[in-house]
Amino acid sequence: MTTVAAYAAPAPKAPLERTTIERRAVGEFDVLIDIKFAGICHSDIHQAQDGWAPGIFPMVPGHEIAGVVTEVGSGVTRFAEGDRVGVGCLVDSCRECDNCKAGLQQYCTGGGMVPTYNGIGKDGEPTYGGYSESVVVDENYVVRIPEGLGLDVAAPLLCAGITTYSPLKHWGAGPGKKVAVVGLGGLGHMGVKIAHALGAEVTVLSQSLRKKDDGLRLGADHYYATSDPETFEELAGTFDIILNTVSAPLDFSQYVSLLRTNGTMVNVGVPEEPVQISLQSLFGHRRSMSSSGIGGIPETQEMLDFCAEHGLGSEIELISADKINEAYERVQASDVRYRFVIDTATI
Ligand code: NAP
Ligand code: ZN
Ligand code: ZN
Repeated sequence: MTTVAAYAAPAPKAPLERTTIERRAVGEFDVLIDIKFAGICHSDIHQAQDGWAPGIFPMVPGHEIAGVVTEVGSGVTRFAEGDRVGVGCLVDSCRECDNCKAGLQQYCTGGGMVPTYNGIGKDGEPTYGGYSESVVVDENYVVRIPEGLGLDVAAPLLCAGITTYSPLKHWGAGPGKKVAVVGLGGLGHMGVKIAHALGAEVTVLSQSLRKKDDGLRLGADHYYATSDPETFEELAGTFDIILNTVSAPLDFSQYVSLLRTNGTMVNVGVPEEPVQISLQSLFGHRRSMSSSGIGGIPETQEMLDFCAEHGLGSEIELISADKINEAYERVQASDVRYRFVIDTATI
């Protein structure tokens, strides 16, 4: 066991504070990672505030981890000291169910994936996330960050990148397809970049036109304010895919009316409350309302390679660890451009 510094929420809704945690000794198939950067995902905030379900406290959030390997176990074959690596939202799973075998570890049916934090590892101990100096992870749940992607701008790809890449690929975003991205925050801005790189025609649906210049620069072809009722009239029946990244409930019946026949609204935002939708807004055009959770390990590697090939990093605001609580407030106020990333050297 090694004692390392970390930032933790001591209790639900309490401000995060500096503390220390124990990391397990490096096992046969483990990799010790010196964490360089950790992104702040809105999911960190939902969980630190017990918004989804009662969490495990103290909680060290952080599932957008980028760092460098400093030690490997004797059985490790895929990584060596000095490798640039990432860890996303999961650090283990059963490895035997159909989903694990298919590389869909996030949907493990053999007891569920072990989340990077706010979970219990196979050793029976709570897992602690990336707002810390180092982490020990089984090599099968570690991905390689290609040269050419800075570790700071790569960190958010480990959640925001894969969470948007996976559904865009699954629902066929590409040339000839019209994709709307709702919410231009951490996930949304990566959704725009990736959908554009896949060749789709991209429209941002944001609360206002405040970030229009950014949206167009990131790769959007069109940008509309959802506060303007005319937006919904003008765009009715337009999109093949609506990728909703909003952390709060929306008027879903209104949004699905923007889908063309056979279109899908895939909701990756996870509001804390149950939501409502009128099925009348779906049946007339065989529209689908769906969702998607992060991505499996092979697809996360594929996404990183795709982003490196297309020069897609996250737009980040680098902060020191003592600014985490302030960053949380700004994320909640939709005042993020477009991902806060913690320089973990400041912990
Ligand atoms: P974020 O950076 O806060 O972005 C969310 C964006 O949604 C905001 O920037 C804002 O964009 C818009 N928004 C916020 N409140 C709104 C409201 N009340 N009405 C309309 N629009 C609103 O958050 P994030 O880190 O991208 O995460 C977004 C959601 O995805 C969270 O619920 C998070 O937990 C979830 N998530 C899910 C997965 C998954 O696997 N499914 C993975 C990661 C995160 P505009 O200012 O442009 O309107
Ligand atoms: Zn996340
Ligand atoms: Zn499994």
